[in-house]
Amino acid sequence: TLSDRLTSVFSSLRGKGRLSEEDIDKTAREIRLALLEADVALPVVRAFIAKVKERARGEEVSKALNPAQQVIKIVNEELVEILGGETREIRHAKNAPTVIMLAGLQGSGKTTLAGKIVKWLADQRNTPLLVACDLQRPNAVTQLQVVGQRASVPVFAPQPGNGVGDPVEVARQSVEHARLNNNNFVIIDTAGRLGVDAEMMQQAADIRDAVQPDEILFVVDAMIGQDAVNTAQAFLDGVGYDAVALTKLDGDARGGAALSIRHITGRPIMFASTGEKLEDFDLFHPDRMASRILDMGDVLTLIEQAQRTFEQDEVEEMAGALASDTDFTLDDFLKQMQMVRRMGPISNLLGMMPGMGQMRDQINDVDDKDLDRITAIIRSMTPGERLNPKLINGSRRLRIANGSGVQVSDVNGLVTRFFEAQKMLKQMKNGGMPGMPGMPGM
Ligand code: GDP
Ligand code: MG
Repeated sequence: TLSDRLTSVFSSLRGKGRLSEEDIDKTAREIRLALLEADVALPVVRAFIAKVKERARGEEVSKALNPAQQVIKIVNEELVEILGGETREIRHAKNAPTVIMLAGLQGSGKTTLAGKIVKWLADQRNTPLLVACDLQRPNAVTQLQVVGQRASVPVFAPQPGNGVGDPVEVARQSVEHARLNNNNFVIIDTAGRLGVDAEMMQQAADIRDAVQPDEILFVVDAMIGQDAVNTAQAFLDGVGYDAVALTKLDGDARGGAALSIRHITGRPIMFASTGEKLEDFDLFHPDRMASRILDMGDVLTLIEQAQRTFEQDEVEEMAGALASDTDFTLDDFLKQMQMVRRMGPISNLLGMMPGMGQMRDQINDVDDKDLDRITAIIRSMTPGERLNPKLINGSRRLRIANGSGVQVSDVNGLVTRFFEAQKMLKQMKNGGMPGMPGMPGM
């Protein structure tokens, strides 16, 4: 399955320190194969891979996540995006009833879905009406009546005198019936064929023209794989629709169809059908579908937690270090610089905080190369030296310079800068904000 493949791709990334161009290419190739195997249409795969690659290249190396987790995060976010971002709500008619028409191949799950939708609507205190416009199959009307009974919702079906045999006439009359009976929703179940054919399309188009639905839903079986794209396109051309309902998501299908249909038709997926019972129904949630495709719900949760915890720990630690100057070590100094650089333009906010202006200036002078050098120097120090920089005498400076591949003057510069920062913090702690004019009377 798609998730198995992705899992093996990601596990090969585990333990890597940083994503190389080669890693990205290799991963992209694997994800491409995985998506194709999951029946995602080729143009969709291409677009998806291009986006993921672009982001993987541009992404800053995250402190909280390892490379595998980072790629999973990108793939997940792009999946959510391609699946439509947010859940789409039903558009209501200005004047009731709101008319929803279902179209799709035979066996796609229209009748079952009609029952689910009316139950869901009725549970929210609506008064829906089911309409039987599938007069093709002998038992279709009875099937809808059974569904209506289960959902405790009335069914409008052809009777002698109200247009027997003509689904267009039944549809037209059902809207009138709904108005008279205060049904605020009308759900029209239509006929389908096993394959796309002109006569069926025409019938659906005629029903559409007769009642002008507020929503036309294309109902599609998620298990049909690559065929989903052709069928979706045929219905788009033949009838047109506003949104898609995916059915049989309880089957093996991992969601290749969802990905393709959303991308190719540009229509949002609105409902998800996940079983034969009336309750097996949900609004379509792109984020849930994405984690289903990835099948890595736990991993995604862990990633979120890791990121949140990391950021929180770091900020708390820093706040603690800033509060007591005796604890402010070279390690803190380094962390502080890394943190401020990562914040990017946000670090300008520091300039607005009393006393922080100087600190900001000091840190803003540091570019990425400086930061690499400073990191190397501090890493070449012993833990004792980092905790107590006063220990760092001439011979230690030479050793540190050699160890980190810099000049002794660079080490001197860093140590000086550190002592300045420490002094500044001490002043702040003692109440005097450096750079702030004294306030008379305080
Ligand atoms: P229609 O021809 O489009 O009206 O399709 P039906 O609603 O009659 O469904 C065809 C078959 O698929 C029936 O046996 C349903 O019970 C089954 N079915 C419909 N939706 C789902 C679903 O979400 N999951 C599963 N497992 N079966 C479904
Ligand atoms: Mg049916």
